[in-house]
Amino acid sequence: MSDFENREDEDKKEESLEEVKAPAEDKDASGKKDDKKEYEDVCFICRRPESKAGKMYHLPNNICVCDDCMHRTMDAVSQYDYQGMLNNPEMMNMLNNMNKDGKYPNISFVNLADLQGNDGIPNKQKIKKKKEKEKEKEADPVFNIRDIPAPHKIKASLDEYVIGQELAKKIISVAVYNHYKRVVTNTMDDIEIEKSNILMIGPTGSGKTYLVKTLARLLDVPLAIADATSLTEAGYIGDDIESVVSKLLAAADNDVEKAERGIIFIDEIDKIAKKKNTTSRDVSGESVQQGMLKLLEGAEVEVPVGASSKNAMVPLATVNTRNILFICGGAFPDLDGIIKQRLTKQTAIGFNGELKDKFDKDPDILSKVTVEDLRNFGMIPEFLGRLPIICTLQGLTREMLVRILKEPRNAILKQYQKLLSLDEVDLQFDDEALEAIADKATKKDTGARALRAIIEDFMLDIMYEIPKDDNIGRVTITKDYIEGTGGPAIQIRGAGYAIADKQAGAGE
Ligand code: ADP
Repeated sequence: MSDFENREDEDKKEESLEEVKAPAEDKDASGKKDDKKEYEDVCFICRRPESKAGKMYHLPNNICVCDDCMHRTMDAVSQYDYQGMLNNPEMMNMLNNMNKDGKYPNISFVNLADLQGNDGIPNKQKIKKKKEKEKEKEADPVFNIRDIPAPHKIKASLDEYVIGQELAKKIISVAVYNHYKRVVTNTMDDIEIEKSNILMIGPTGSGKTYLVKTLARLLDVPLAIADATSLTEAGYIGDDIESVVSKLLAAADNDVEKAERGIIFIDEIDKIAKKKNTTSRDVSGESVQQGMLKLLEGAEVEVPVGASSKNAMVPLATVNTRNILFICGGAFPDLDGIIKQRLTKQTAIGFNGELKDKFDKDPDILSKVTVEDLRNFGMIPEFLGRLPIICTLQGLTREMLVRILKEPRNAILKQYQKLLSLDEVDLQFDDEALEAIADKATKKDTGARALRAIIEDFMLDIMYEIPKDDNIGRVTITKDYIEGTGGPAIQIRGAGYAIADKQAGAGE
């Protein structure tokens, strides 16, 4: 009997043990707990994250206070002259009035429940905790030295997306390869390999942004695209220069380590050229170039997390820009004039004197750019010194535009063909039609950007009308249709080649 009782007791004990264990596991599995593990605590008073301020005191309502702030608060409280307060009749009067309803004075200056601790900060503004080294390696094998693709492989991948611009693709592939080799081997100590920041010069719509975007996607690194026109010297209206690093941090999901290997593309860099003949302070030109120097070279910068400017309510993160690849791009209008002037000056003297207008018709004049020309344009020498690699992109020719329409992996024509193939309609384009589109785009002078607008314009009718009629099996876009003098060739499903030369959308 007693044995039996004992066993029963043991059973009960085991059961109760299980009960205790179970809820603990549940808690771990809940999303909220994970969330806390993933993000750093931020001090409620100074807004510094745990990685900078050290261990935090955890108060109710999920409020964290760092050691420094806690001590400072304690010091302030202990220095307060409570005795003086009691001797002050005015103060006592006020306290008595508060106590009118007969209760004990219950003065609540701050209602803790109204305060918002870490729960109140959106995840967008939280800093991710650093991962342990081993986990990191497993998760991110791209940055293993053997895995960095060789320059010819990087270029081959770029070729699938970017048409032409052979020299630019080659220069960038080598620069990126060297940059990441430097990052991975961390050879900054003995032989210092210089940082290979890139300056990209090319007319608008020639693929500068597209090239960088493709590159970042292939390398699987975070990319931030910023516009130099919005940047101003710190303290003036506009974005602070460091906001570009903030953007990168956001692109890396607030993971500082990931951001530190990312790419920052600053577009419209020619807009921060030194203003000529100005007497006022050049807050959006030369000063921005000056301010960018330390970023380009590599420095520890404190950036606001999840916002573009620093203020009291935004947590700060420290990001080292040493391994961030900076690519600056711009159209540099009138730079060709400066280059021509220099070249004609050089060749106009002596027996080898050339005709003055020899360079006027050179379509590739930009590729002859030198640092001297860029200085004449208004870039300061220190700035140019930190962008050692200069690559130029050509203006797109008619043939290149036609190739852009049909060749890249995600070419616009392929996208429309795919869309219509879902309706089991075969979409074809005559070669002449493509040339007509390219001609139209050339007139707009915005490079390849004009192509999409033109195509969307005439495809609207097709995309609207074709699904109406189940009998249509094939649509061929002709030159006449592009130029507005005819309609597309439409073939009925299974009925051979009966071409219905009616304008889609007309009269319906
Ligand atoms: P920008 O030189 O002004 O930065 P973009 O890179 O934004 O021009 O180009 C606009 C669009 O034109 C891109 O999204 C891309 O689809 C297309 N494009 C431009 N150049 C090329 C190119 N060389 N190859 C393929 N597509 C291109």
